[in-house]
Amino acid sequence: MTPKSLNLFVLPAIMLAIFLTIAVALWLSTGNAFYLFNFGYIGTALAIGMGVYAALPARKKPMGRRLAQFLIGTYMLVFLGLLQRENMQIEGFFFYLLAGIFAGSVIHYLVAKIVGVFIFNRGWCGWACWTAMILDLLPFKRHKTEPLAAPWWGLRYVHFGLSLGLVAWLWWGTGYRVEMQSVTELYWLVVGNLLYYVIGIGLAFVLQDNRAFCKYVCPIPTLQKIPARFALLKIAGNAEKCNDCGACNKMCPMDINISGYIQQGRRVLSTECIMCLECINVCAKDALFVNFGNDREVR
Ligand code: SF4
Ligand code: SF4
Ligand code: SF4
Repeated sequence: MTPKSLNLFVLPAIMLAIFLTIAVALWLSTGNAFYLFNFGYIGTALAIGMGVYAALPARKKPMGRRLAQFLIGTYMLVFLGLLQRENMQIEGFFFYLLAGIFAGSVIHYLVAKIVGVFIFNRGWCGWACWTAMILDLLPFKRHKTEPLAAPWWGLRYVHFGLSLGLVAWLWWGTGYRVEMQSVTELYWLVVGNLLYYVIGIGLAFVLQDNRAFCKYVCPIPTLQKIPARFALLKIAGNAEKCNDCGACNKMCPMDINISGYIQQGRRVLSTECIMCLECINVCAKDALFVNFGNDREVR
C-alpha cells in the first residue's frame, strides 16, 4: 500500500496549531501567561521556517530550516538560558527533576526531547537545536569520510552516564541544591555550551562531518531514541518511483540507508533521523516525502 504524503504547505499550519494548543493548555492550567508567549513564539518561528522551506525552490529550501534553527535556537539559548538564567543543559534537567521544580527547562525536555518525539520525531535536532545551528554552518555538510565504527556510537551513552553520575554525586554526595536563576545556573549553562561548541566544531573538522557531535558525543539522543522509534512523523517513500540511485543516502547527515528502507516498502525507521528533509530535496525522482502515520500502513 502506498503511504500518504503530507503537503509541505499544510505542515506549518499543523505545527502552529499544535504549539498554540500546548500554549493555551499550559496557560489555562497554570495561570502563567509566559507559556502563551513561549510556545506561541516557538510555534510561530517553526511555522515561518517551514513555510519558507515549502515556498522556496529545492536548491534553496534548506534556508527555511536554518531560519527556524536560528529563530528558536537563539531564543532558547539567549532568552531562556542566558537572560532568564535557566540551566538548559541535560544536568539542569536532572537537577530540576530531583528538586521537583517544574522549570522551563523541564518542559523543554518533555516537549522537544522526550514526549514530543512520539509525534515530531527528532525534529528538534533538525530544526531548532542551538548547538546544531552553529554546527550546520560548518563546511562539511556532505561528509567525505566513512562513519566511525560501532563502538564510537556508544560515546553518547558514556556521556549521558557521566552527566547523570555527576548530578547524583553533587546531589547526594555533597548536598548541592539547585537555586533558580542563580549565578551557578548561568555558569553551568555557559561552560557546558562552550564545551559542546568546542568539541562539536573540533570533531567536525577532524572527521570532516558537521554532525559528528550529534552522532557520537551528544547525550540527548539517549532520551530521544525510544520515542523516535514510535514517532508518527517519519520520512517515507514510493518504491515504484525510486531507482536506488543512492543520492539520498549520500546527502543524509546522519548516515542512514534511506533507499534500503524505501526498497523494502518501509518508512525510514532509523532513530538517527533528524527530519532535516535533505533527502527529500535531493531526490530527482520525487520519491520521498513526509508521512504522518504508523509503520504498518507502508509494509
Ligand atoms: S544530537 Fe544533540 S547537538 Fe545534535 S541536534 Fe540533537 S540535541 Fe542538538
Ligand atoms: S534519491 Fe530518490 S531515487 Fe535515489 S535512492 Fe533515494 S529515494 Fe531512491
Ligand atoms: S533520513 Fe532524510 S530527513 Fe532523516 S536525517 Fe537523513 S536526510 Fe534528514
